[in-house]
Amino acid sequence: MQVEPQTFDRVLSSMCTEPHPDARTAAERFLATNPGDPGTYPTVTELEEEAVSMLGEIAGLDSPAGYVASGGTEANIQAVRIARDRFESRTSNRVGDHTPNRNERSTPNVVMPESGHFSFQKAANVLGVELRIVPTDDDHRADLEAVRHSVDDRTALVVGVAGTTEYGRVDPIPELGEIARSVDALFHVDAAWGGFVLPFTDYEWNFSHAPVDTMAIDPHKMGQAAVPAGGLLAREETLLDELAIDTPYLESTSQATLTGTRSGAGVASAVAAMEALWPGGYQRQYARSQHNADWLADALVARGFEVVEPTLPLVAADVPVSTFDSLRREGWRISRTATGEMRIVCMPHVTRSMLEAFVADLDRLQCRASVPVVSDD
Ligand SMILES: *Cc1c(COP(=O)(O)O)cnc(C)c1O
Repeated sequence: MQVEPQTFDRVLSSMCTEPHPDARTAAERFLATNPGDPGTYPTVTELEEEAVSMLGEIAGLDSPAGYVASGGTEANIQAVRIARDRFESRTSNRVGDHTPNRNERSTPNVVMPESGHFSFQKAANVLGVELRIVPTDDDHRADLEAVRHSVDDRTALVVGVAGTTEYGRVDPIPELGEIARSVDALFHVDAAWGGFVLPFTDYEWNFSHAPVDTMAIDPHKMGQAAVPAGGLLAREETLLDELAIDTPYLESTSQATLTGTRSGAGVASAVAAMEALWPGGYQRQYARSQHNADWLADALVARGFEVVEPTLPLVAADVPVSTFDSLRREGWRISRTATGEMRIVCMPHVTRSMLEAFVADLDRLQCRASVPVVSDD
C-alpha cells in the first residue's frame, strides 16, 4: 500500500489536528504497547499515571483519578455509567419506597443542554438511562431555569459543556454544579475540545471552580496528541470504582476502561504533547487560534454574513447552502451546525494564510454567484 493520508491544508472543520512532533515520535515508539494490561506493559502504565496527573493540573484537580480513554465519546459514556451506578446504589438503599412500578421509579435520567455532544445519545442508548435535553439560551448556553425544571429525584447526572462542539460556548458551570448538588446528582463537565484552551481564559469551568465530579478532556483535540487520546478525569478514585470489572486472566485485578486492549500510542503521545506544550505552548497556541477566529469572524461580517461571535476559537456563520457546497467542491473541509451555519474550528494547523486563501475563494465564488452570466452571442 502506498496511499498518502490527507494533508491538513484545507481542513477547517475538524477538531483533530496535526500532532506535535514530540507526540508523533512518542506515538510511534509506543505503538505496540497495551496499557489495558499493566502487568505486561508497566512502562506505558506509568506514563498513563503521568498523563492523568498532568490532565488534573490543567483541570484544577490536585490528586486526580482517571485514565486516557479512546476519546471524548468514551469519557462521556463512562461518566454516565458512573452516575447511573451511583444512582442505583443510592436509591436501592432507600427505605419505605412503595411505588408499584419499579421501572417508573428507578429509571435514572441525565439532564443535558441541547448543545451537548451526540455521544450522550450513545451513552443513554447503551446504558438505558433517560436523556433529558434542555434548551439553550440566546447565546447557545445552557438555560439554567430549564435545567432546574428538568432535574428531579431520579436525576443521576447533570452535564455542562465547557466549549461546545458547534459554537464553542461555555455553560454556566458553577450554577449547573449547584443544581446537580440540589438533587444529589453527579455533575459532569464535557471539556473534550475546550479543556486545552480554557485555562487561558477567564471562564469558570474546572474542578476548582465548581463541584465537578467527572470531566472529559481530550489530548487528541486541542492538546495536539495523536489519536486516540481522550481523557476521563474523576474528582475521587471511588468514582472510578463504579467502573471496575474483575480481570481474571490478567495480572492486574481490575479494569475501569470501556475498551480492553488499547493503544499505548495515545497515552505516550498525550504525555509528550503536554510535556512539550503545557502551559506556555498551549497558551501561545490559544492566542494564535483566537486571533485567527476573530480575524475570520471580522472578514465574514465585512462581507455581510451573520456570524456567531467566536468566544473560543470556533466560528459559525450563516453562509448560503450553494456557497457552502461550492467551497466544499474547492476542497475546503468545512461542516455545518444542526441549524445549517458553516462552522470553522481554528485548530493549531489552521493558519492565517489558510484562512486568507479560504476567504479569497469565498469572494471569488460569491462574485460569480452574484454576477449574472451574460452570453456574448
Ligand atoms: C469532540 C467532542 C466529543 C467527542 O469526542 P471524540 O474524541 O470524538 O470521541 C465530545 N464532546 C465534545 C464537546 C466534543 O467537542
